Amino acid sequence: MKDQFGRAIDYMRVSVTDRCNLRCVYCMPEEGVSAISHQDILTFDEIARLCRIGAGLGITKIKLTGGEPLVRKNLSVLLGMVKSIPGIEQVTLTTNGILLKEQINELVYNGLDSVNVSIDTLDPERYRKVTRGGCVEKALKGLAAAAAFPDVRVKVNCVPLKDAQEEEYIQLALLAKDGRADVRFIEMMPIGMGKIFSGRSSEEICSILKRTFGEPEQYRGRLGNGPAVYMQFPGFRKKVGFISAVSHQFCGGCNRVRLTSEGYMKPCLQYGNGVDLRALLRSGAGDDEICETMRDIVFEKPACHQFSADAGRKANAGATLDAAEKTNADAVGGMNLESKGMSKIGG
Ligand code: SAM
Ligand code: SF4
Repeated sequence: MKDQFGRAIDYMRVSVTDRCNLRCVYCMPEEGVSAISHQDILTFDEIARLCRIGAGLGITKIKLTGGEPLVRKNLSVLLGMVKSIPGIEQVTLTTNGILLKEQINELVYNGLDSVNVSIDTLDPERYRKVTRGGCVEKALKGLAAAAAFPDVRVKVNCVPLKDAQEEEYIQLALLAKDGRADVRFIEMMPIGMGKIFSGRSSEEICSILKRTFGEPEQYRGRLGNGPAVYMQFPGFRKKVGFISAVSHQFCGGCNRVRLTSEGYMKPCLQYGNGVDLRALLRSGAGDDEICETMRDIVFEKPACHQFSADAGRKANAGATLDAAEKTNADAVGGMNLESKGMSKIGG
C-alpha cells in the first residue's frame, strides 16, 4: 500500500487501551485521563478484522501499544489472533514492563516477536517521580523475563527529560553494554503533555555517552521497523539507538499508520486527521468498503510533521494537559493538529 508520495506503508501501530497503570509526567496527568468506556473500545474481533484487512493492503507488521497494553485483559489472546493472520509477519509490543513478568510466557507462546520496554531512568527515586509512583524494580524484572527468550528482541526506550542527571543516561546505556537490551533514546515530541515538557536532543545524549564510552560507529544494518539510528559503542554487546523525531525529521521514510483504541485510523502522529473505522465496522460495512476507506486515508498521509516548528509547545508553556489538548485550533499547513495525548493516540 503506497501513499501519495510513494511511501510503502507496511506497519500499523494499534492502541488497545487508553488506560495505564503509571502516570508518566510527560504523558498523563496525575489524576489520569477520562477513561473511554468499554463499549467504545474496539473488541479483539474488531481489531483482528482491521488487521486482516490491513494485511490485504500490505501491512506486515503490527505493534500493540496503548496506554499500557498489558492492562487490557487477555492481551496475549489478541496477539495470537493477529499473529495468525496471513501476511502478518511480526507482532511486537510496547509496554512499561510492570506486568510483563507475569504475562511474558503467554505472549511468547502466542507469537510475540519483539518487545520495547519503556524505562526512562534506572534510579528508583527518579523513576518513582517520573512515573508518579512506579517501581523500577518491577519494570526491570519484566525486562529480564523477556530477555530470557532468545528469539524475542528486547529494547529499552527512554525519553530523556531536561531535569535528569547525565549519570542516568550512562546507567541506561550500560544495559546495552552488558547485553541486556538495545537501548534507544527518543526525543520528546510536542504531543499531549509533551507540549509542556522539555526533553534532551539526541545530540546531547550522544555526546554524554561519547565522553564516557568513547567514539561510536554508526550501525548500518537493519534493526527494527522504525526510524532509529543505531550506534555501536566500543565494547558494547548491544546497540544504542536514537530516535530524533524533532531534531532530524525522518518523515520521508515513514512506513506507518496508527489505529486508536476507539478505532480511529490516523496516518500521522501530529495531525488529528483520520477516519472513524469503528463507525464503519459497527454500521455493518463489508470488508471491501472498509478496505477502500483504509486505502484512501493512507493515500492522504501528510508529507511530514512540523515538530521542528515547535507547534503548540511555546503556546502552552506552563499549561495543563487540558490546555495542551485544546490547542488543536493551531493548524499547521492547513491541517488540524492532534489534540489528544500520547496515551490516547497510542505512542
Ligand atoms: N505504556 C506503554 C509504554 O510506556 O511503553 C506504551 C504506550 S507509551 C505512550 C509509548 C511510548 O511513548 C513510551 O516509550 C513513552 O515514553 C513514549 N512517549 C509518551 N509521550 C511521549 C512524547 N510526548 N514524546 C515522545 N515519546 C513519548
Ligand atoms: Fe503510561 Fe506509557 Fe504513558 Fe507512561 S508513557 S503514562 S507508561 S502510557
